[in-house]
Amino acid sequence: MSGAPIDVAKALAEGAAARREALIADLVALVDLETPSDDLALLRSGVEAIEGWLESTVGPAARRVAVGGQDAAPHRVLDYPAPLVSGSRGRVAVLCHYDTVWPAGTTAERPARVDGDRITGPGAFDMKAGLVQFAHALALVDGLNLPRPSVRLVLNGDEEVGSVTSRALIEEAVADSGPVLVFESSADAAVKTARKGVGMFDVEITGVETHAGLDPTGGASAIDELARVVLALHGAADLAEDTSVNVGVVSGGTRRNVKAGSAHALVDVRVSSAAEAERIDGVFATLAPANPEARITVSGGWNRPVMERTEQTAELFRLARQCAAELGFDLREVAVGGASDGNFAAALGHGVLDGLGAVGDGAHARHEWVSIDGMVQRTALAAAVLARL
Ligand SMILES: [Zn+2]
Repeated sequence: MSGAPIDVAKALAEGAAARREALIADLVALVDLETPSDDLALLRSGVEAIEGWLESTVGPAARRVAVGGQDAAPHRVLDYPAPLVSGSRGRVAVLCHYDTVWPAGTTAERPARVDGDRITGPGAFDMKAGLVQFAHALALVDGLNLPRPSVRLVLNGDEEVGSVTSRALIEEAVADSGPVLVFESSADAAVKTARKGVGMFDVEITGVETHAGLDPTGGASAIDELARVVLALHGAADLAEDTSVNVGVVSGGTRRNVKAGSAHALVDVRVSSAAEAERIDGVFATLAPANPEARITVSGGWNRPVMERTEQTAELFRLARQCAAELGFDLREVAVGGASDGNFAAALGHGVLDGLGAVGDGAHARHEWVSIDGMVQRTALAAAVLARL
């Protein structure tokens, strides 16, 4: 390789610093471009604007796949092949989502704001800053003519609602790629090398209605069954194994004096291992009514599989940490309870480095903020990782 690594690190740090104003301006523009997961019209115009911005920042994509947009969120897969100088370095997949949890009109009330080192606004931290940092990192590497792998970017429009319509596209996009980089926000500046698997289960209980006073021994109360189900499910949590179970919503019954004919529960489950996912499946499969006249039906399942810290992921982290050290800071890693599209890639056996995006805090919260110094630093880091892979 030409030049000592320290020179490359210096060039990347300076290059990222020179992009500071552009990073700020681009993030402000992307935040003010509202893209709520459930607003197709805004997602369509949003993804179009983002593609235009990407083209002006990193150049045109060599291959473009456009999916959805009519009755589901639009998604894009954009390929940026390696420049000639690179030789054969394989392909890296980059996962970004551009949807946010914030409804249309939020920016009228809380527009993007720059205040000292902080940028605030809906979706800034989760995860528009990550997208901005990735684009500038790629432009920085190419601007310096550094070798890099081919890059395949997935722009997902329904991540915040479980990636239901994008999952297959993501799995296909990463299938013949090597490492996967996810520009979701960091956790207190640490990257994420393990994520829990998330289960979203619905429990539907059917009882038999009777008059509560005239026929107290008849019928079957769906609410009585529901109460037992809630205790059974909460009892299945195992914090020593890192497994949590939360019945977050319950409903049921029609009137005070009628035995409930139906009841319903929405359940969130988080696990850190495939073995625990299997055990929880068993718990749901064996839920049985105390009254044989009642019926329990379970639907839903694992929304995102566990992202375990495999050796390939550990290897990616070591490389990123080395890049950070050359840039003059220490990079930490954490395991987190939240899931991302990185979980899909990890389940297919890819090394996944997640949380490469914003430094800041407040995902899904009104106080969401992004550090501008962090944007500069993480742009340099992402560029260094791309140039090293
Ligand atoms: Zn996110």
